[in-house]
Amino acid sequence: MSMEKVYLSEYEKSPYEVKTIDLEFDLDSTKTMVKSKMIISRTGEENQALFLNGDSLELVSIKLDGRELHQSEYELNEQGLSLHQLPAEFSLEIENIINPEANTALDGLYKSGGIFCSQNEPEGFRRITYFIDRPDVMAVYSTKIIADKKAYPILLSNGNLFETGDLKDGKHYAIWKDPHPKPSYLYALVAGDLGCVNDSFTTMNNNEIALNIYCDKGNEDQCSHAMTSLKNSMKWDEERFGREYDLEIYNIVAVDSFNMGAMENKGLNVFNSHYVLADADTATDSNFMGIESVIGHEYFHNWTGNRITCRDWFQLTLKEGLTVFRDQEFSSDMNTRSVQRISDVKALQERQFVEDASPTSHPIKPEAYIQINNFYTATIYEKGAEVIRMIHTLIGEEGFRAGMDLYFKSFDGQAVRTEDFIWAMQEASGFDLEHFTLWYCQSGTPEVNVTSVFDKKSKSLCVTIKQTFSSPTQVNQKPYFFPFKIGLINGSGHECRLQLENAEGQTLVDKGVLLISKEEESFTFTGIKDAPIMSLNRNFSAPVKVHTAYSLSEYAFLMAHDKDEFNRFEASQTIASMVLHKLIDAVEKNEAMSLSDIYSEAFSKVLLDMNMDMSLKADSLSLPSVSMLMQEREVLDVEAIYIARNFLKRELIREWGADIQAQYASLNTEKEYTLQSAEIGRRKLKNTLLSYMGALKDESPVLLQYKKSNNMTDRLAALSILANSRGKGKTEALNHFYKRYKDNTLVMNKYLAVIASSELKETPSNVRDLLEDEVFDIKVPNLVRSLIGAFARNALHFHAIDGSGYAFIADKVLELDKLNPQIASGLSGVYKDYGRLNDTAKALMKVQLERIVNTSNLSKNVYEIISKILA
Ligand SMILES: [Zn+2]
Repeated sequence: MSMEKVYLSEYEKSPYEVKTIDLEFDLDSTKTMVKSKMIISRTGEENQALFLNGDSLELVSIKLDGRELHQSEYELNEQGLSLHQLPAEFSLEIENIINPEANTALDGLYKSGGIFCSQNEPEGFRRITYFIDRPDVMAVYSTKIIADKKAYPILLSNGNLFETGDLKDGKHYAIWKDPHPKPSYLYALVAGDLGCVNDSFTTMNNNEIALNIYCDKGNEDQCSHAMTSLKNSMKWDEERFGREYDLEIYNIVAVDSFNMGAMENKGLNVFNSHYVLADADTATDSNFMGIESVIGHEYFHNWTGNRITCRDWFQLTLKEGLTVFRDQEFSSDMNTRSVQRISDVKALQERQFVEDASPTSHPIKPEAYIQINNFYTATIYEKGAEVIRMIHTLIGEEGFRAGMDLYFKSFDGQAVRTEDFIWAMQEASGFDLEHFTLWYCQSGTPEVNVTSVFDKKSKSLCVTIKQTFSSPTQVNQKPYFFPFKIGLINGSGHECRLQLENAEGQTLVDKGVLLISKEEESFTFTGIKDAPIMSLNRNFSAPVKVHTAYSLSEYAFLMAHDKDEFNRFEASQTIASMVLHKLIDAVEKNEAMSLSDIYSEAFSKVLLDMNMDMSLKADSLSLPSVSMLMQEREVLDVEAIYIARNFLKRELIREWGADIQAQYASLNTEKEYTLQSAEIGRRKLKNTLLSYMGALKDESPVLLQYKKSNNMTDRLAALSILANSRGKGKTEALNHFYKRYKDNTLVMNKYLAVIASSELKETPSNVRDLLEDEVFDIKVPNLVRSLIGAFARNALHFHAIDGSGYAFIADKVLELDKLNPQIASGLSGVYKDYGRLNDTAKALMKVQLERIVNTSNLSKNVYEIISKILA
């Protein structure tokens, strides 16, 4: 089988543009009539054909300037519709039929849970009607929706509400007009019997905006955090970036069946209900934080994505990397900056670093794809955001704001490229970013090796920085240009003043930022009395892996003294990783394991530090995840990783149990649930300590917390620990949880994930049973991610030595591919460790990969991922 690739280098301007499109929908579950009237003009040469994309549509009629076309006057195939010999400007009226209920791919217009809903990014609009479905064709849309009034009292589309009215046979209609030209991927339609929460926001120019959040009836009281987050986002974007909202209404709809997290359709965001609904009883602290960040993200797209959009899909990071950076900054301003930074970097290291070391590694601006849906990746989003953050570090907040102002001024209403963004940043700041742009086209995570030589006589420290770069999918890479923030700490734990002997060039040494541009370069710091310890890549100034020959004691020193909170956390993870890798080696060689005294002492220093921010303390006391540890192993022995990690946990509680339990007790006080940072930090620390206590035989404190807690954060933390225990408490708590929340699908997602993530040997059979449970439905993406996705990420069972985990997931990939190719391809990414398995495991996985790729009628989505892994 071969599948056609699309290349960035083959981009051509559309020969036609659509000025306006008036749509009319007569909604019906299986037979929705779609009428469109477009005003189209030619921008290319005469005699060029007009091609309109169309997928799974039933064409009824076409009229050109009012005259119905005969079948011989157009060509119709599976990809769409071609028309020839067209005038310079004309109207085209098309009628077609679609079947929303049969649309289990949830792409285009679909019906799920009694609600009509659309998802058009990146190429869903062609499943609604024939159109030039590409982001650089921007048109002015109007929409008339006709539907049964009783079943679908709420009718929504983009823009402002223009007119509503009743029709015969119990039907009614609504007309929406969006004055802003937009690409088809931002088009949206929703119809249903929904509950609503209203509020309003007054903009900086005193425009009153109506804010509505729609959800399933009965869930209205769970929308208040989302509404607060929306108002905070609107205010923040005015204050930080001078951006004001530009319609009369801002609508958000929460739906249960949604492929993505949320979608920024102009004036009508559609959200996975996971990112809207929350209260203390059903949502965790991290759910609340997630809502704030995703509500912000989609709102910020109104300027970075909607007003200025992408020329083509290779530019996806133009809107996503930039908007993730904006939502990260928003969350940092709303909460504790260093805590936010740690959580963002952790997410990058756990997901993007793994992707970038795998066969699906790609630059933030890819050069080719088979299915663009496969590129909504951690690389495009999270690494994309780090690239924007480096620009921010290089040119400073003022320069960055000036660059953003220029970007908006120059490109508003246009579909542009990443080069246009860089141009604005460079033009406004005067900073040369040419070398920097390699970050857009090179893939792989660069590694930075740092060595230093201290000369007591000249009181100088010579620091040599050597970068290495490679990618599993690229050759002939060049050295990167990046900001590398460093600090020097003397023996008594104080920061040394940074003086560079040779401050030539662009060294922003006053802020501790070295500008690295060569494969190897040295910097000599002077005026230093004693050999200092280096604190490297502070605040994660560049998305690289840093290596230095420091010992456990030196990392323990940094863990205790580094002023950079991110690096203090990073030191805690580095030292724990070093210790764990030694333990894993011991397991693999069948040698005895023992607890490192240096690590144990460093751990206790953090544990006993009562002045530290509780959230930072919790992060620093946590061990690196299995996924982080897997990254550093040349050949994967997953079981050894689990054995070593569990051993370390048990040893730490054995050594420091009394202190851990005492501190837990002091934090485990009954308090009203609030979302203040200090309270979130208290719960996080308490639950981190509880997870250590979970390594003890006595499960009673965990069960007690499960029973007594007044919020989901504490309850779920206890439940996850119990799900790994062998005691009676496990069954009691799981049964209670199931009974209590059975009818709440968002909470059932948590239940499924807890069971699918358990290390216990009965997990695979539990997962199989749950597939048949009434709370599970394979057509709902959230449930698939919670049960099947969580099991696939459960490395211990996925990599079961008999290959049963590989076979099970392959079955599910194939089953899902028939229903929803996007969800199936997302799941098939779990095979990306293929190249690092031992020969036996590799052979077992290969059987499954070949079984998938040789299946007839496989989607492009899954084919692209699996064929890359096999190659
Ligand atoms: Zn986005």
